[in-house]
Amino acid sequence: MTTATKTSDMLARLGIQDVNPGASTGSWIDTKGAELTSYNPTTGEAIAKVRQATRADYEEVMKVATKTFETWRLVPAPARGEVVRVLGNKLREYKQELGHLVALENGKILSEGLGEVQEMIDICDFAVGLSRQLYGLSMHSERPGHRMYEQWQPLGVVGVVSAFNFPIAVWAWNAALAAVCGDPTVWKPSSKVPLCAIAVQRICDEVMKECHCPGVFNLVVGRGNDVGDVMLADHRLPLISATGSTRMGRRIAEVVSPRFGRTILELGGNNAIVVMDDADLDLAVRAATFAAVGTAGQRCTSLRRLVMQKGIAPKLIERLKKAYASVKIGDPNDPGTLMGPLVDEGAINDMMKAIEAAKAEGGEVLYGGKRLDRPGFFVEPTLVRARADMKIVQEETFAPVLYLIEFDTLDQAIAINNGVPQGLSSAIFTKDLMAAEKFLSAAGSDCGIANVNIGTSGAEIGGAFGGEKETGGGREAGSDSWKVYMRRQTVTINGSGQLPLAQGVKFDV
Ligand code: NAD
Repeated sequence: MTTATKTSDMLARLGIQDVNPGASTGSWIDTKGAELTSYNPTTGEAIAKVRQATRADYEEVMKVATKTFETWRLVPAPARGEVVRVLGNKLREYKQELGHLVALENGKILSEGLGEVQEMIDICDFAVGLSRQLYGLSMHSERPGHRMYEQWQPLGVVGVVSAFNFPIAVWAWNAALAAVCGDPTVWKPSSKVPLCAIAVQRICDEVMKECHCPGVFNLVVGRGNDVGDVMLADHRLPLISATGSTRMGRRIAEVVSPRFGRTILELGGNNAIVVMDDADLDLAVRAATFAAVGTAGQRCTSLRRLVMQKGIAPKLIERLKKAYASVKIGDPNDPGTLMGPLVDEGAINDMMKAIEAAKAEGGEVLYGGKRLDRPGFFVEPTLVRARADMKIVQEETFAPVLYLIEFDTLDQAIAINNGVPQGLSSAIFTKDLMAAEKFLSAAGSDCGIANVNIGTSGAEIGGAFGGEKETGGGREAGSDSWKVYMRRQTVTINGSGQLPLAQGVKFDV
């Protein structure tokens, strides 16, 4: 079978047509907005089109979602979990096709595309278990014959805005948890990867049909100024969970905060690995290469800064150059490819501008630095010798550019790790327990994620995922992240037949 046939079979199985409607609540809406073309970054060719949603289409979706909330919140949480269990099973059935579509439309390699679907399956499993564990605490009342406890109630319809680089997994982190918490979701995906969202919604539509619960998972593909802005200002969405750049997060906070809406903001990172002189060099090289080159440097947790103790730096740089030279660049759906293309022409421009800015500030390109002479949006993974105080090093460039920075002492390394506006992921490579513990101490890494002897990217769903400072402060996925999708209610029940007041206050009438 040719690649073209395989691709068209895959698209057909996922229900992707040449022109697709851009909104669904369980059945597709005949959307009336402008057509959006989705491109394959490996060739630059069009894959298919989506007819985007207008404000009126959005309104239609919101009507269904808000109506659904009225009944969904009353379905027992374990029964809501059952729907998410069906979703997880359907995702297992479609794993291969979805993984291929992610590789086709986003450009990440097939293994990572499949990994993204696996992450969706994992969060569904987690959410099913969670549906029987939405625990509240009970407290001892100071008043005789009184009982206090807290219960967690569904919050409302949740707006999910997702970034291009995780076209489906981050939606699942939100939608699976929100569903068991009693909240329908309305998803606005990135306009760079709308087909991934349409394929997932088709699977959701099957699930909702089978489980008789339309309106729990809803999709709206639309322009920022048609749908995005309306969503942010919409009081019917008590929570907006948004993944994207810090610039986008700032805008969301500005619109959602004044209406006292909640946000989960998962924004840009500028992640560092600190490599101490005593580190296992093999581990450090492999971890740094995967974290910097994997997903073509287009993960929020991608490694941007390799902070090397002076003794190990020369060897580390030589080993890295060799590792970089062995990275096979090409079609992300081909076996053996380790690095696919960047997402679009804009991403290439941003990368080239960053390299020029680094050079202008005294940075030295030690490897790569160029666009590849082939169709699509391919670049060389790039190593730049740099200083921590360079302006460009403070910024997140969403591309495979790794800044190499040297230090003398662990205190300096921690200061460098923390000395950027973002605070997502961080790691230290060392065999010295004291050094590792210092990095993990209150005076150590200031990031939401701190690792020892593993890289900055590749988080598991069991932990709460997110970062500090300009990364936005949101937490998603595991641990107790579910609490933000619910409203906490403190309950006091008086079974005493008396009316004693708290704090001994007397008010006798
Ligand atoms: P982006 O900010 O360009 O877009 C993200 C999403 O926000 C898209 O769906 C876009 O349409 C939407 N959007 C943009 N402006 C909007 C507005 N005014 N109102 C409503 N929606 C709006 O980001 P991108 O290029 O798609 O993704 C890359 C960025 O995402 C990087 O900065 C990366 O670090 C970040 N990211 C963060 C995490 C995390 O968990 N911290 C995860 C993935 C990606």
